[in-house]
Amino acid sequence: MFDLAHWQMIQHDLIPWRVLRPVEVVAVTKGQSVAALREAMAAGVRVFGESYVQEALAKQRALAGADVEWHFIGRLQSNKTGLIAEHFDWVHGVTNGHQAERLSRARLLLGKGPLQVCLQVNLSGETSKSGLAEPQVEPCLRALQGLTGLVVRGLMTLPEPPADEGEGYTRQRFRALRQLAESLCQRGYKLDTLSMGMSDDYQIALEEGATWVRVGTLLFGAREKR
Ligand SMILES: *Cc1c(COP(=O)(O)O)cnc(C)c1O
Repeated sequence: MFDLAHWQMIQHDLIPWRVLRPVEVVAVTKGQSVAALREAMAAGVRVFGESYVQEALAKQRALAGADVEWHFIGRLQSNKTGLIAEHFDWVHGVTNGHQAERLSRARLLLGKGPLQVCLQVNLSGETSKSGLAEPQVEPCLRALQGLTGLVVRGLMTLPEPPADEGEGYTRQRFRALRQLAESLCQRGYKLDTLSMGMSDDYQIALEEGATWVRVGTLLFGAREKR
């Protein structure tokens, strides 16, 4: 169920950063019930993050007409890009030009305004993890410039620290993401968004420049495992 005290705590934590830049919370509701989303909405939550398309669509149907923004934060599968373009406002985890082209084309066919997207960057150097390696980011941005069905708003990362690494590892990844975004801005790309930080590390992400923090467990408790 929705934890109002934790929501209020996070809102309070955002206040000093909002003097410097816009910062918002994506309430991550994968594995949570529609009832939990309703409770969150009653408390003023307006942005939900979901990772699985079918699960998200079922919730959207149950909450039809609600004034909320839906963010897709899961792994993109090419056969789902049409549904994602239709039913989401933001996509946080674009990792290649092919996906982006499909999203853009679907969005244009639907006659909807551009989809807001972030490129997912893998800063841990592990090829097994999803996301663009740092040298791939600028070529990908360049390739996406002609796509009128989407707007690349910024960068997203999901650091997974090895068990023996602590806060320093995460902070270093968040900082590297911000520095990458800053250097791209200096080269003329218009990026205003850094999607980074989750329940355990959102405060570090705020300190390092996050504009979206994606918080699930802290707001809703443990979720059903898939
Ligand atoms: C599940 C998920 C989150 C939320 O994680 P919590 O630890 O529950 O806050 C954030 N971002 C992504 C991409 C996720 O898949």
